[in-house]
Amino acid sequence: MRPLKEVLRDWEAVIGLEVHTELTTLQTKMFCDCHLSHDDPPNTNVCPVCLGMPGALPVPNEKAIESIVMAGLATGCQIQRRSLFYRKHYFYPDMSKNFQTTQGPVAFCMHGHLDLEVAGEGAAERPDCTMEKAADGSYVVPIRILRIHMEEDAAKMVHVGGTEGRITSASESLIDYNRCGTPLIELVTEPDLRTPEEARLFMERLRQTFLALGISDCSLESGSMRCDGNVSIRRRGSRDFGTKTEMKNLNSFKALHDALAYEICRQAELLEAGDVVRQETRHWEPSKRRTVVMRVKETADDYRMYPDPDLAPFDLSDEFIERCRTRIPELPLDKRDRFVATYGLRRTDAAQLAADPMTAAFFEEAARTVATEVVPTVANVIINLLPATKKVMPAQVASLAELLASDALTFAQAREVLELVDGTTDDPQRVIDERGMRQSTDADALAATVEEVLAACADQVRQYREGNRKVVGFLVGQCMRASKGSGNPKLFSRILRERLTREG
Ligand code: ADP
Ligand code: MG
Ligand code: ZN
Repeated sequence: MRPLKEVLRDWEAVIGLEVHTELTTLQTKMFCDCHLSHDDPPNTNVCPVCLGMPGALPVPNEKAIESIVMAGLATGCQIQRRSLFYRKHYFYPDMSKNFQTTQGPVAFCMHGHLDLEVAGEGAAERPDCTMEKAADGSYVVPIRILRIHMEEDAAKMVHVGGTEGRITSASESLIDYNRCGTPLIELVTEPDLRTPEEARLFMERLRQTFLALGISDCSLESGSMRCDGNVSIRRRGSRDFGTKTEMKNLNSFKALHDALAYEICRQAELLEAGDVVRQETRHWEPSKRRTVVMRVKETADDYRMYPDPDLAPFDLSDEFIERCRTRIPELPLDKRDRFVATYGLRRTDAAQLAADPMTAAFFEEAARTVATEVVPTVANVIINLLPATKKVMPAQVASLAELLASDALTFAQAREVLELVDGTTDDPQRVIDERGMRQSTDADALAATVEEVLAACADQVRQYREGNRKVVGFLVGQCMRASKGSGNPKLFSRILRERLTREG
C-alpha cells in the first residue's frame, strides 16, 4: 500500500465519527435505580427493569437528561423541546430485553458544531477551506455535529480462551449485566473531517469538553468513551461521496488515527486497481496494523425501530434548559484564551493546562500566590515536572517556581527537590536551604569567581576571541566547579559573555 501522505495527494478522505460516552459520574442507571458502578462484583447491580423482566417499567433518569442537554449546549446544538424514546430491536445476549432504548429521528440535541484549529501540514491538506487563515497559517474549521442522542449501554461481555478477546476464537463467553442500562450519549458528526489527524483532534477536543462538563470520566482505555470511525475517499476536486466503511470501538487516540490512515490507503489501493469499496463494518487489529471485515452493514430498517410505549414523549421546559445552561462551567478553549490574556502564557502551554479541569485548577491555585512574572514558570513546572510526581501541592509548585524564576535553582535541581517534597507538606525553600542547594544570585560574588576562572583559562579566553563561542560552556563548567556548585549556571553564562564581549 502507498503511504498516507502520497495517497492524500490524489484522494481526499471524508470522515465522520460516532462517539459513545457513558455518563459515569451519575449515581444510578438510565431507567432504574440500580447503582451505577462497573467495579462491583459481576451481576450485583441489576433489577427487573434493566434485565427486561415482564411487567417492569422504566423511569428516565433526570440527571442523565441534564447531562445530555449540557453536552448539547456546550457544542452549540439546538435543544429539542419535544423528543421520544424508541425501541431498537436486535438479538444479542448483552441486552436481555432484546431491544435497546434509544432516540428516534429527533434527538435531545440537534445540529451543533465543535471547532478545530488545523495548523501546519493539516492546513495544506484543506486547500478548499474557505475559512480565513490565521497569522500562523492555521485554519479554524467548524466540524458539524448532526445530533447527540440519549440511550442506554449494553451489558459487558468477556470472551475467554481466545485470542485478542475475539468472540470467534473464544471457548466461553461471560456476561456482566452491571453495565447494562448505563446512561449513554451518542454523538454523530457530519462527514466534515478530512484527515486522521483532524479526527484525532476532534476526539481530543470533545473529550476535553465532556471532562470540563463533569458528565463522564471519559476514559478511552476503560471504554467509558468509545469511537466508531466512518471513512470514504474521493478524487481531489470531486464533490461526490464514495462508499464508506466503519471501524467499531477504536479505543485510543492512536487506534483512531492509525485505523483511519490504514483504511484510507486500503480503499485507495482498491479503487486504483479498478475495484470497488464495499460498505461494511471492519475491525482494527492494532497488533497486525490492519482492518478486517466484521460484518456487512445492516440498515436502520433491520432494527424495527418504534416509539417506546412505556415512555411518554419528553417535553423539556425552558426553565429546565436554562438551569442546564447555568451549570456549564468555563470550557477549555475559553479557559485557554483567558490563561493567555491574564497570565501571558504561550498558547500551547495554556491549551495544555486548560485541557484537563484538575490540572487547570491546580495551576490557578499555584499561580494565585506568586508574582505575575513568575506565573509562566509555574506553568513550566506543571507541564514539565509534575507528570513524574505522585502528590505535590500547588503551594510547593509556587515556592519552587519562585526559586527558579530568581535563578536560585537549576531546572535539574528543581526536579530533584520536587522528588524530595513529593507526598510531604515540606516547603521546597526550606528543603533546599537545609541541603545547601540554594544557588547564589549575588552578582558580585559570581563576578569574582568569573574573574578567577578567566585568569586561569587564558587558552580558552583566546579561543573565544578567535570566534569559538562554544568555549563558554567549558568556562561555565569551571565557574560551577570553582563555586562548588553554589552559583547558577545561567547567571555565570550571562556574566561570562558580558565580560568577554566587553574585553574583545
Ligand atoms: P449509517 O446509517 O451507515 O450508520 P449514517 O448516515 O448514520 O450511516 O452515518 C454514520 C456516520 O458516518 C456519520 O458520522 C456520518 O457523518 C458518516 N458518513 C456518512 N456518509 C459518509 C461517507 N460517505 N463517508 C464518510 N463518512 C460518512
Ligand atoms: Mg450509524
Ligand atoms: Zn436496574
